[in-house]
Amino acid sequence: MTSKPIGVAVLGLGNVGSEVVRILTENAEDFEARIGAPLAIRGIAVRRVDGDRGVPAELLTDDPAELVGRDDVDIVVEVLGGIDIPRKLVLSALEKGKSVITANKALLAEYTGELADAAEKSRADLYFEAAVAGAIPVVRPLMQSLAGDRVNKVAGIVNGTTNFILSAMDETGADYAETLAEAGRLGYAEADPTADVEGYDAASKAAILASIAFHTRVTAGDVYREGISKITSDDLETAKSLDCTIKLLAICERIVTPKGKERISARVYPALVPLNHPLASVNGAFNAVVVEAEAAGRLMFYGQGAGGAPTASAVLGDLVMAARNKFYGGRGPLESKYAKLKVAPMGDILTRYYVSMQVADKPGVLATVAAEFSKRDVSISTVRQQGSGDGARLVVVTHLAADSALSETVASLEQLDVVVHVASVLRLEGTTV
Ligand code: NAP
Repeated sequence: MTSKPIGVAVLGLGNVGSEVVRILTENAEDFEARIGAPLAIRGIAVRRVDGDRGVPAELLTDDPAELVGRDDVDIVVEVLGGIDIPRKLVLSALEKGKSVITANKALLAEYTGELADAAEKSRADLYFEAAVAGAIPVVRPLMQSLAGDRVNKVAGIVNGTTNFILSAMDETGADYAETLAEAGRLGYAEADPTADVEGYDAASKAAILASIAFHTRVTAGDVYREGISKITSDDLETAKSLDCTIKLLAICERIVTPKGKERISARVYPALVPLNHPLASVNGAFNAVVVEAEAAGRLMFYGQGAGGAPTASAVLGDLVMAARNKFYGGRGPLESKYAKLKVAPMGDILTRYYVSMQVADKPGVLATVAAEFSKRDVSISTVRQQGSGDGARLVVVTHLAADSALSETVASLEQLDVVVHVASVLRLEGTTV
């Protein structure tokens, strides 16, 4: 005897939604066998219901709120994008006891707390594997597989657009603007690339990762953020000469302050990464996340971080979980925020800096520059002098020091007569000295 179908509302039929619907339809029998009951798509919400959308026309609606409220909808898949509209729809679904699957990192990075509270009250599931690093399973490993371990660090490349641009700049020697335009032509960058290139998308993902890794509520506003739009082909050239490349990293870390207080750090910035670090070889639009846990040691997750079908894979994995919970009873884990750790300001974080500056080509420059570092207890690891005359450049790489001391040092270098200008300041990650 066939079990009663589990009703699914799909909100959105774009890159992700169309793949969700296609895979669900093509593999309906497999889904039924895996869940124990068939899934029935009750409706698909879009803005534009006219024309051939590749799905049965009777499923389409431009009224997502009505669809979410229907009695025969048990699970809502939210793949719309935006924040305000999906927030209302997801809240309304959860309040009615319907489980929600969302791929929406921007929504979660602001409102996980509110959504998790609503899910808690109505004992519904809220799953979001697709919100971080597309197809790559990283949310469930952090929330479930590593629930018995203590995670100390999660660092990764979680934005495909910026990784594509930086990899291409590294490979071709082209500059940022030219490479961004090429990324747009190839479909790797959106018409307005701000969310990607200025690090907002990665910061949303960092907030989600830090929240689940450290059992603490972290929002996008808590994440220190710098984008890649100031990276030059010279930076990549110098990185190469230091046996490094440049990657936009999202770093979430458990730290202990000099006073022995436990804090967390969540930050996104382009950083020099040594070529022998596992993240250095993650190229093109691929994503990777490295997790360091006390008992498990280092784990690396790698794969396609975006795209319709890869993201749909993560959405559908969540859908099967939520449907099984509906069928057998029970529910998955919700937000875990018991640790309530404070987020440390960026100035307190220990980092290494790479500073490239144009300098006057005369005796004593090196000593004057070095004095500014030593005044603030910033120890220099290497110094290189490149070029001569008007093109004379000093490249300084420091040891670990408080980020505030490093940024004060850079500010003071800019005031020196012997420094024409500080061309570039980047952090160096993936080393500990
Ligand atoms: P998309 O291609 O722009 O599709 C959005 C869909 O939502 C469209 O079908 C659109 O309808 C519909 N829609 C938007 N606002 C609506 C409204 N107010 N009422 C009814 N329908 C509405 O977006 P996407 O790339 O699939 O991304 C969807 C979500 O997944 C986003 O939260 C995104 O951050 C997340 N995500 C995407 C990827 C990826 O690779 N694309 C990866 C990870 C996560 P029309 O078709 O009629 O315009």
